[in-house]
Amino acid sequence: MTDIKSMTLEELEQEMEKLGEKKFRARQIYSWMHEKLADGFEDMTDLSKGLREKLSEHYELVRLEAVKIQTSRIDGTTKILFRLPDGNAIESVLMRYHHGNSVCISSQVGCRMGCRFCASTLDGLERGLTPSEMLDQIYQIQKWSGERVHNVVVMGTGEPLDNYDALLRFIRLLTSEGGLHISQRNVTVSTCGIVPRMRELADEKLQITLALSLHASSQEKRRALMPVANRYGLSEVLDACRYYFEQTGRRLTFEYSLVGGVNDTAEDARELARLIKPLRGHVNLIPVNPIKERDYVQSGHAAVLEFKNKLEKSGINVTIRREIGRDIDGACGQLRKSYMDTEK
Ligand code: SAH
Repeated sequence: MTDIKSMTLEELEQEMEKLGEKKFRARQIYSWMHEKLADGFEDMTDLSKGLREKLSEHYELVRLEAVKIQTSRIDGTTKILFRLPDGNAIESVLMRYHHGNSVCISSQVGCRMGCRFCASTLDGLERGLTPSEMLDQIYQIQKWSGERVHNVVVMGTGEPLDNYDALLRFIRLLTSEGGLHISQRNVTVSTCGIVPRMRELADEKLQITLALSLHASSQEKRRALMPVANRYGLSEVLDACRYYFEQTGRRLTFEYSLVGGVNDTAEDARELARLIKPLRGHVNLIPVNPIKERDYVQSGHAAVLEFKNKLEKSGINVTIRREIGRDIDGACGQLRKSYMDTEK
């Protein structure tokens, strides 16, 4: 059955014609799915019963089911484990900030990028998510919380640029006027650095923020943490960042997970500052979240502050990412992995 929630308004209009329906029905259905967040065709009460039946014969209305919801007692962050229509599980996070609610979504079931410190990649890639499965993480969370979602970050399980077509369609639907109409500026996509896709994305000239997971300031160190660096070297990745900035005018964010004794020295900070200074980006420092399958440790609190100070002295804009949800399997992929492991 066709996945109707992944269709653009134009595609939906063509479908209505095929079904022998009036074109304006498409707009009504689109609004039910993407604005009123209907979970079933039967809820679309301004459509005739006949049309609703026709829709359920021809189309699948993808809906995720929350199977586990955990809220952190420390900071109110909520982690939701969703079951997909095919039985796979993914996780999403709702973060509540002063400036509004932010949702972190997954883009794939598993991941094939192999970053050494990440739990999401331990069992490899199962498949990419459909646009509707990416959207519904946000829709279900907005309905569950009863509060509007302001920001969306594609930083959960998966490499979004390894699911490129679905990602683009997802962004278009999410930011469309007839849908939730979230501003492109409030959408961030995080990548481990798939260079050709970064350039393609730049050519789309969207106003979204691109975040690059950098994690090291030399090719050698980066390769030891991220296998993707074997395919795309550090200078190539930074060139692609420059290209993204030139094409879109959007400053990038650089994510840097601090791993004790691996990438947290004064020399690392100096080199990092030198590399990204010309790009005028922002650095997000993340004390690495240790996972039991690897023996990486966090940098000490003093080392983190020292690293931040060094960057700031070089004129770099830095934030330390609040460690959120430590008590709820906060690290990428941890909750899903423990769920899948017990299911097995
Ligand atoms: N594949 C994308 C998005 C998902 S990961 C990417 O690589 O950017 C989101 C961020 O969390 C990335 O910066 C990733 O490197 C980081 N990350 C993953 N596991 C982590 C861990 N255990 N501790 C700290 N950061 C981690």
